[in-house]
Order: sequence, then C-alpha cells, then structure tokens
Amino acid sequence: MGLKGYLHDIWEAVATTAKGMRITARYGVDPRETITLQYPEERWEPSERFRGFLHNDIKRCTSCTMCVKVCPVDCISLESVRGADKKLVLASYDINIGRCMYCGLCVEVCPPKSLTHTSGYEKATVTRGELILHFVPEDAEEIKARVAKQVAEAAAKAEAEKSAKAEAPPMGWPAPVFAAGNPGAGADAEKKPAQEPKGEPANREEPPKEGGEKAE
Ligand code: SF4
Ligand code: SF4
Repeated sequence: MGLKGYLHDIWEAVATTAKGMRITARYGVDPRETITLQYPEERWEPSERFRGFLHNDIKRCTSCTMCVKVCPVDCISLESVRGADKKLVLASYDINIGRCMYCGLCVEVCPPKSLTHTSGYEKATVTRGELILHFVPEDAEEIKARVAKQVAEAAAKAEAEKSAKAEAPPMGWPAPVFAAGNPGAGADAEKKPAQEPKGEPANREEPPKEGGEKAE
C-alpha cells in the first residue's frame, strides 16, 4: 500500500466517524426521534401480521384435530367426545405457549378459522404450568360425564320409541272391533247401537203379569 492508499484510509475513517456522530447527535437532541420506550407504561404496537399468542374461539372449533396433527412441536392437546347428536363436543383444548414457535401452521389449516394469532407476546412467569393456555373453562371430566349421560338418555328414548312403534298395528290395517259396552271400543262402536243378542237371554226378567206379580 502506497502513501496514497494510506491517506485514503485515514480520510475514510474520519468521514464515517463524523457521519455516525452526526446521526448520534441528531437522535440525542431531536425529541421527535424516539429511541426507547418507557416500558411497560409504553409499548410498541405490533404490526398487523404479527404472530403473537394463539387464541381459539371454542364456540366455532369443530374438534377436527387438524391443528394437533400439523403442529411440528406437539404443543396443542385436545380432548373431545361424541355427543347425542353425533357431533364432537370439545372437552379440553390446551396450547403450551412455552413450546410454541409461532410458525402459524395450525392457524393456516384450521377449517372454521377459529384458531387465530393475537398481538399478545408478554407472558413472564416463573412457573412452566402457567405457559399452558386452557381454552375450555369447564373441567374435562365433568363435560365427558355430562355428554355420556345425554347419550345414554337419548339411546333410552330412541329404544322406547322403537318399542312403541313395534307394538302399534301397521298402517292400513282395519281398526279392531270391540264388543259393545267394552270401554276399549272404537268410534264405530260408539255410533252404532248395541245389537240385541239372538235367542232368549238366560236371566232376562219377565214382564210383570197382570196384578203386579213377577214370574217365578
Ligand atoms: S404456531 Fe406452530 S408451533 Fe405454535 S401451536 Fe401452531 S403449529 Fe404449533
Ligand atoms: S383445526 Fe381449528 S377447528 Fe380443528 S380442532 Fe384445531 S382449532 Fe378446532
């Protein structure tokens, strides 16, 4: 390196230092140039597409388990039971945000779009258990027991209806005709007068004879 190169390096060092100091001076004196925030009183607003903590709107979740299957780090756990109407009922839905890497795959595959990223990113804790987000507030065992009871009741009702149907006469058969005086007689029996039985009745009373005496 000749003298010319040596002088060029000195000049370049002075120029870049001056440039850097000019920027430093501007940020130091200009109140519009904000460098730090008074966190936690002040916070940056995350961008629109920021992938923060996950949220599941369990009213829309169909328990399809797509998110569970696609998660690369297995941080979603889900329990569901089949209800009386054959639909799946969500018993528990947990996400371990301490393990989640916020890749967004679960959000992408969720068919009803019930799973979304929020703008949340602050969750300082000293207990790992607090990093597991529970989205179903009710106890899973209570939900399972309640659904099992509903399923049993629905099955019993269906069985009772089936038995009643089997006992009823098939459609199109004539209505049974009951003898007159039978409380179970149908409408026809009510309309028609009771027919006189043929022959002499065994214990019919004789009409009173003249003189007011009865037949022996
Ligand atoms: S964002 Fe990625 S790592 Fe986190 S729960 Fe969803 S799929 Fe799993
Ligand atoms: S993919 Fe969506 S609908 Fe399916 S279980 Fe996950 S959160 Fe629920």
